[in-house]
Amino acid sequence: MTRVTGLPPYDSKNIFARILRGEIPAKTVHDDAFALAFHDINPQAPVHVLVIPKGAYVSQADFAANASDAEIAGFWRAVGSVAKALGLEANGYRILSNMGEDAGQEVPHFHVHIFGGRRLGRMVP
Ligand code: IMP
Repeated sequence: MTRVTGLPPYDSKNIFARILRGEIPAKTVHDDAFALAFHDINPQAPVHVLVIPKGAYVSQADFAANASDAEIAGFWRAVGSVAKALGLEANGYRILSNMGEDAGQEVPHFHVHIFGGRRLGRMVP
C-alpha cells in the first residue's frame, strides 16, 4: 500500500475495517462487491449514511491513486445507488469526504458521507 502524504499507513484495526469484517454491528443499507453503506452512528441530517469501499484505503487520495478502475467505478456507482434507494434523488443530497488532518478525518478508511432529508445549510470551510 502506498503511503499517502500526511496520513499513516492503513490500520486494519480501524472501526470501519472492523465493520467490514463483521466484528462490530452496523445498520447496513447496501452491500456489494465494491462497497458497504451504513447509517452514521452520529447523524448530522435526517439521512446520514456512510459509503466505504471494500478495499483497504486510508483516504480519498489513497483510493484514487491505488484502487483499480473497477473498484473506483463500482464504489461510485454504489454511492449513487444508495442515494437513490434512500429516496434522495427527488430533492437532492450532499456527498462529502474528509481527507486528512486539516479536514478532520477521524476514521482512516476512505468513506463518503451522504447527507439528505432536509434543506442543507450552505457549505462553508
Ligand atoms: P470523518 O470525520 O469523515 O472521518 O467521519 C467519521 C464518521 O464516522 C463520523 O461521522 C462518525 O459519526 C462515524 N462513525 C464512527 N464510528 C462509527 C460506527 O461505529 N458506526 C457508524 N458510524 C460511525
